[in-house]
Amino acid sequence: MELDQSIQFVKGVGSKVAALLAKKRIFKVEDALYFFPRAYEDRREILHVKDLDQQPEVCVTGKIKRAYPVAFGRSRGRRYEVILQDLKDPLYTVVLTWFQRPFVFEKLNADVQVIARGKLQTYKGRKQIVHPELEVLGSHADEESLPAEIVPIYSQTEGLYQKRIRKIEKQVCESAARKLKDPLPSELLEKHQLPVLSEAVYQLHCPSEKEDVHQLQKFASPYHQRLIYGELFFFSLVLAMNRRHFTEKTGIAYEKPQEFWDQFSKNLGFKFTAAQKRVVKEILQDMQTARVMHRLVQGDVGSGKTAVAAAAALVALEAGYQVALMAPTEVLISQHFRKFQGWFQSMPIQMVELKGSLKAAERKAAQEVLAQEGPVMAFGTHAIFEDWVNFKNLGLVIVDEQHRFGVRQRARLIAKASAPDVLVMTATPIPRSLALTLYGDLDVSVIDELPPGRKPITTKAFLDSQRAAMNQAIEHELKKGRQVYVVFPLIEESEKLSLQSIEAALPAIKQHFSEYQIEVMHGRMSAAEKEAVLERFRQGEIQMLVSTTVIEVGVDVPNATVMVIENAERFGLSQLHQLRGRVGRGSHESFCFLMAAHMGSAEIKKRLKSMEKTQDGFKLSELDLEMRGPGEISGTRQAGLPEFQLAQLPRDLNWLYKARQDSFELIAQDPQLQSYPLLRQEMQKRFQHLHIS
Ligand code: ADP
Ligand code: MG
Repeated sequence: MELDQSIQFVKGVGSKVAALLAKKRIFKVEDALYFFPRAYEDRREILHVKDLDQQPEVCVTGKIKRAYPVAFGRSRGRRYEVILQDLKDPLYTVVLTWFQRPFVFEKLNADVQVIARGKLQTYKGRKQIVHPELEVLGSHADEESLPAEIVPIYSQTEGLYQKRIRKIEKQVCESAARKLKDPLPSELLEKHQLPVLSEAVYQLHCPSEKEDVHQLQKFASPYHQRLIYGELFFFSLVLAMNRRHFTEKTGIAYEKPQEFWDQFSKNLGFKFTAAQKRVVKEILQDMQTARVMHRLVQGDVGSGKTAVAAAAALVALEAGYQVALMAPTEVLISQHFRKFQGWFQSMPIQMVELKGSLKAAERKAAQEVLAQEGPVMAFGTHAIFEDWVNFKNLGLVIVDEQHRFGVRQRARLIAKASAPDVLVMTATPIPRSLALTLYGDLDVSVIDELPPGRKPITTKAFLDSQRAAMNQAIEHELKKGRQVYVVFPLIEESEKLSLQSIEAALPAIKQHFSEYQIEVMHGRMSAAEKEAVLERFRQGEIQMLVSTTVIEVGVDVPNATVMVIENAERFGLSQLHQLRGRVGRGSHESFCFLMAAHMGSAEIKKRLKSMEKTQDGFKLSELDLEMRGPGEISGTRQAGLPEFQLAQLPRDLNWLYKARQDSFELIAQDPQLQSYPLLRQEMQKRFQHLHIS
């Protein structure tokens, strides 16, 4: 079996299973090797229902007595229960409970033997496991047929279950894992006493019976460590290469701006805060030297990063260069465009929008502007990467809301010009130590002050049963002429499901607030549709905007003073804070209402309480990192941390530090990776547009 062979032709796969595997991004044999178990089950000590005791985490086997749905609540969907019986003594039972239909439900007929794993609780005198992990063994299996082993558990998908995945993985692993060549320098593996890639991958899928199962479960086995270190090493190596690229190149040494600057100060309508002034000064210093600027500006939501970006842009524009500002959504692009139009009034600066949705003629017009001499300010989404976009003399690139652009895209954009200065802005206040490691190729400036006159946003958590009180508070604001956002979370990252929950809730909202104009905005609308709705909201024609999280980044409407977050228990702290930052942007008192469907766990309570108590994004992000349980809440992305397959921050922070040191040392010694052809090849495969100069 070859590594690049299509998975479809592996024995026992075929086109149907291949389509299911594709959902997991497994297309080739090699992809399957890198699809790692998300847990391990210790089948060396499986319990019988009879022996269930006080242990909190249990792995138990038994026979199904009954499987049935239980009606519950009015609108909440259903609960499903399975009564699991001891194999020998039917008097002993445990209840397995699900709050949504588990997709293995059809297979749960009487007499089928299963293994269930999860937290054992006692509820109303019954032993129960809520949302257990389940594996169906079949109707004739019994304890003897279960080999005592450590079993890998994979993430399943409807139609593709544990046993099948495990079988495919085992097969692929046995015939192909040893073909993996390790791109990491062997001296680094030795230094950290890590196994080689092929062995690590093999053991992760097919752990031998003698392995320490607790280590495996905690992702702390040497095999896990090898892969975690590897991922973090590749990541840091990109930063090291970027950094080198920038320090080597000679950039543009700008003059201090004069005329444009004076006009800008008049147009601005406010005075910079001390923090903004300091950051602008740091930027100016960078831009006035011939060194290429590569700077990250961190500032909490509402701290005024946009105006700082405009100041930087002016420096390049007055010198006759072009400036590109990138933001993650077209809505944000239009908003920036409008803002800059005001700030750059009466200056001879051409402004152009570069959006994916431009028509052919508009595109052509934009191209013509970009081909001209003289100051041009371009605003664009990812469209800036497209081949039709060519700059005549790009002097500065500004990237807004950085966390949406990975290190790869950063490299790609920079490739558009020879040595432009780069300014990256992020509202994600990740702890400074982490920032330096994650953005190790950037210098960091922090805007640690909000514009004057901002009042803290009164934040309050409600339960569904308190909705009337919340509605009253909303009404109070609406009567004063203020506007309201209502945000629904992404459910399992699916816009569709999120939209369904909006549709379900909308009639009640419309009925309650019938005198007001209420509209919906979501990610499935086209950029133009979204922009139109937002524009009407901005103009005050809409009083209440009901939306998915598409509004989360950067939207700026000062008259909106209420942010309602539905199912707030599903959001992480950083994302709640980002959303809250959409209000409190003017001089009016503002509110953030966190509506929780339940406060099921101590975690959720703590999270919502933290939001009520603190407005400080940095503090919240630290708490967020501490509290983050894997997979529990949506929006991991919003924590501003890059996503890895196995590595997880802050859990693997120690490995990140080691990887950073090793990679920077390696690049200092061998910038072109000449002695490491395999590593070079791997990097080119993983990160196109990389500067291996
Ligand atoms: P963010 O840092 O979240 O991107 P913005 O740049 O959107 O914040 O700024 C938030 C709001 O504060 C905007 O309406 C902006 O015009 C305003 N603003 C920025 N700086 C100041 C300042 N120094 N004084 C008063 N208002 C300011
Ligand atoms: Mg912003």
